[in-house]
Amino acid sequence: MDASDDAAPSADRRATPRRVAVVGAGLTGLATAYGLERALPDAEVVVYEAGPRPGGKARTVQRDGYTVDWGPNGFLANAPETLELVHVLGLGSELQPASAAARRRYLYLDGALRPLPASPGAFLASEVVPLAGRLRAALEPFLAGRVDAEETVHGFLERHFGRPLADALGGALVSGITAGDPHELSLDALFPRLRAMERGHGSLVRALIAQQRTARPRRRSRVGDRPAAPTAHGAQDRPPDGTPGRLTSFHGGGMQVLVDTLYAALKGDVLLRTPVEALERPADGAPGVVVRAAGQQPQRFDAVVLTAEAPAAASLLRPLAPAAADALDGIPYAGVRVTGLGFDRVDVPHALHGFGFLVPRGQGVRSLGVLWTSTLYPGRAPAGKVLLRVLAGGRLDPELLSLADDDALDAVRRDLRLTLGIVAEPEFVETKAWPRAIPQYALGHAGRVDAAERALAALPGVHLAGNAYRGVGVNDCVREARRVVDRLSGATAG
Ligand SMILES: Cc1cc2nc3c(=O)[nH]c(=O)nc-3n(C[C@H](O)[C@H](O)[C@H](O)COP(=O)(O)OP(=O)(O)OC[C@H]3O[C@@H](n4cnc5c(N)ncnc54)[C@H](O)[C@@H]3O)c2cc1C
Repeated sequence: MDASDDAAPSADRRATPRRVAVVGAGLTGLATAYGLERALPDAEVVVYEAGPRPGGKARTVQRDGYTVDWGPNGFLANAPETLELVHVLGLGSELQPASAAARRRYLYLDGALRPLPASPGAFLASEVVPLAGRLRAALEPFLAGRVDAEETVHGFLERHFGRPLADALGGALVSGITAGDPHELSLDALFPRLRAMERGHGSLVRALIAQQRTARPRRRSRVGDRPAAPTAHGAQDRPPDGTPGRLTSFHGGGMQVLVDTLYAALKGDVLLRTPVEALERPADGAPGVVVRAAGQQPQRFDAVVLTAEAPAAASLLRPLAPAAADALDGIPYAGVRVTGLGFDRVDVPHALHGFGFLVPRGQGVRSLGVLWTSTLYPGRAPAGKVLLRVLAGGRLDPELLSLADDDALDAVRRDLRLTLGIVAEPEFVETKAWPRAIPQYALGHAGRVDAAERALAALPGVHLAGNAYRGVGVNDCVREARRVVDRLSGATAG
């Protein structure tokens, strides 16, 4: 259809849209398109993707018996929206919870791997923070105090537990999730639950103790045990079991299974290698949005959902909503390089009994963390082999992203020698650098998202969704997709 086509549908703000464009075919875009097709069976949904394949950061490579996730290696099986999506896609029996050993996590500190304490009590006996720091942390219920202003992750931890703990654990806490800088990231945007715990109890330790007390008798009613309520997506029966709260992926092909299944389930067009280059208002003044994409005739839609990374969304919005574009341009990103390495088991001196380890900065190790993937998910390496997945780069080491693959591999191998004593050549290597890997929820993040949404209120039909706004993980993307689907299908106002 041409932009000037008189037959273009009208976009009464209260009417449900008949044509919707989704920009970006990452997990958010795919889940949005799938949700729209289910909630609005008469609507036409077209997905535009700049890259050559669907999935965005969610991509898994299988070669020589190894299975390596280049992006997410799972999701926590505690989000009803994700469990329901898995269920309606018929993937319940494919779920692969991480092995129980994955509960054990380590920090590389002062030249050795040290177990991360699993509870506040265990923390007091742990070696990850010097004794004086542990004693200061033990005083948290008496010293914490309350602050109403937004704080950085480091500032919040320091106020509650003292500087030694904030220095040792702050970086590790955020680098595993965002590859970010705890001095830059907003506690309120990234960990709103911690702020809520502080508000409710004054002290995090008191809040944790209260949580443990109330959780005990209610253990049986966790997400996976509960029948799902009927929803706009139409699922009425029980979500798949999974293992509530545990990191979970899929047998056979890792997170690629979710991407491929969503992609195959879509009825409408998914236009690959087709970047959207501009959004415009229809020249005839009619409602709706015109999408101009590479190699395509301009198309008019009633609604457009932008799921591309924030800077890409910003450049599309600049001519129509400059204030929204300014706000989105203020969201920084961390670059991350992911390297999967396969070794013969006998060449790895460590038992690898656990999830893997994180490395606080200042330890002489460049990598941010190493995941023991073949322990987490048995079957990801051939028999007698192990697969490690190393994450490096992040906000505090952006230079790593500009290294050539060979130089980056040298840096990773040096780190594996130091931390795990591995001197052998890997028999398998896969590496991927993501320059815009993970959005950073820096101080002021919530204000930026509000400013963007306020500016878009004056631009009916344009919606934002994705991991740059209300949560950086897979579960957040699925929740974002649900939010937009509910809004467009009239299940919620807006
Ligand atoms: C290394 C790494 C490890 C991670 N590990 C985990 C994990 O273990 N657990 C977890 O929950 N989360 C993890 N995450 C986060 C998770 O991967 C993301 O939240 C999620 O994949 C983001 O999906 P998205 O669709 O919002 O964005 P993206 O995947 O970034 O998709 C955006 C898409 O938009 C496309 N696009 C951009 N511009 C245009 C344009 N102009 N026109 C058309 N298309 C465009 C892009 O090509 C891309 O495909 C990880 C992320 C990374 C990078």
